[in-house]
Amino acid sequence: MISIDDFRTEARNWISQNLEPLEHSNTKILRGVDNLSAEDLPPERELQRKIYQAGYAGISWPAEYGGQGLTKQHEVVFVEESANYRMPDFGVLTGTTFLVCGNTMLAHASPDFLSRHIPRILAGDELVVQFFSEPSAGSDLAGLTTRATRDGDDWILNGSKTWSSGAACADWGMCLARTNWDVPKHRGLTWFAVPCNAPGLRIDPIKEINGDEEFCQEFFDDVRISDAERIGPVDGGWNITHSMLVFERGAGRVVSETAPAGPGELAPDLVALAQRLGRTSAPNVRQLIASAHIDDYARQQLAYRIAGQIRKNGANTGMAAYGKLATGTYDPIRAQIALEIGGAAALTWEKGDRDGIEPSIDYLNSRVMSIAGGSNEVQRNGISERVLDLPREPAFDLDKPFREVERGGPGTEWSGKTSG
Ligand SMILES: Cc1cc2nc3c(=O)[nH]c(=O)nc-3n(C[C@H](O)[C@H](O)[C@H](O)COP(=O)(O)OP(=O)(O)OC[C@H]3O[C@@H](n4cnc5c(N)ncnc54)[C@H](O)[C@@H]3O)c2cc1C
Repeated sequence: MISIDDFRTEARNWISQNLEPLEHSNTKILRGVDNLSAEDLPPERELQRKIYQAGYAGISWPAEYGGQGLTKQHEVVFVEESANYRMPDFGVLTGTTFLVCGNTMLAHASPDFLSRHIPRILAGDELVVQFFSEPSAGSDLAGLTTRATRDGDDWILNGSKTWSSGAACADWGMCLARTNWDVPKHRGLTWFAVPCNAPGLRIDPIKEINGDEEFCQEFFDDVRISDAERIGPVDGGWNITHSMLVFERGAGRVVSETAPAGPGELAPDLVALAQRLGRTSAPNVRQLIASAHIDDYARQQLAYRIAGQIRKNGANTGMAAYGKLATGTYDPIRAQIALEIGGAAALTWEKGDRDGIEPSIDYLNSRVMSIAGGSNEVQRNGISERVLDLPREPAFDLDKPFREVERGGPGTEWSGKTSG
């Protein structure tokens, strides 16, 4: 295997000769401002293909499926070396495709499935969205009612999924469906890969508070899927869901093994905001910046510590929940601090003024991580049950066949086809 140093030299040379340097150091993507549509994707796919063909996509993924079979450390090196260059931007689909769905497929899908999908994912030909939440199944995900019914070598899917980030631009969805109503709720679920253009699948964008339409609701009306697109065993989907949630909570992220040297720069975005408004000498502003800086440092150290623990002991949903809970707790606090520093000036901006819009849009987006991928309360439950070994939450339906579990009220399911 190529040494880390040689890999760094090769990657640096290739990057400098083939990728475009970034023009601005502030590359923060603002959800609700930097919105992507399907028309924006072809050049991003082209760039992804170029990186794939050069052997820099899927650096730590298995070579038999188009990856490079190298280590996470090689991947860290590539991320470091490419940090100031333009990389493919698939919006939220970058995370769902490469971090969450790709890693989950690699952990659970059959070799035949992986050889069909993983090379296409790495080449930018397949962007994958997560179809798991439903109108009446979010935190209680195992209570979902989208059904998959066996029909020869195929499955027929009926039901509805919602809050699917990026679905309008995706090529495939990883979909969790109920395949068995006669066993308790966690034991009758199965994962499938569904093409987003499958006949019978309707994808409706949902307007969000930040102005974007990144979320979608999907309606499955007799959608036919080959059994070859099943991921993992029939009725064995819950175990796979755990893997997916661990990846979604950041366990697969590329994190350096070297401890950060220190607290880093004093909250640069907040200092820039205070400077722009001439408020750097105001005592309350200085105090707010100091408090954000302390929290930034604590958060960075926590992320490093969690990554170290996961490297040492492996990941589980409880351990991964710490980082997710920290983000879900801290994002709203930090967004509030920016608004307090900016006051009325943070709430108005000239059209096209990116710096001006940032505090407001960050504030609107700041609740995302306290809900998406499992709410803060659900993360706390995970930590208490899986890390601290506290008693499980009482539940009335864990041993009952799902068919016998009373579900929701009238109108909580999309159609008669979804009920047991
Ligand atoms: C930005 C964003 C992106 C998302 N992307 C996707 C996606 O790509 N694909 C997808 O499938 N889904 C996605 N989701 C959906 C997300 O996973 C769910 O919103 C989330 O799991 C919460 O479910 P819910 O909205 O049904 O809330 P509910 O489950 O109805 O919860 C409502 C409230 O009750 C609390 N609560 C519920 N159960 C408990 C409990 N046992 N103990 C304590 N408190 C509890 C919750 O914390 C919450 O405050 C996304 C959501 C957001 C906000």
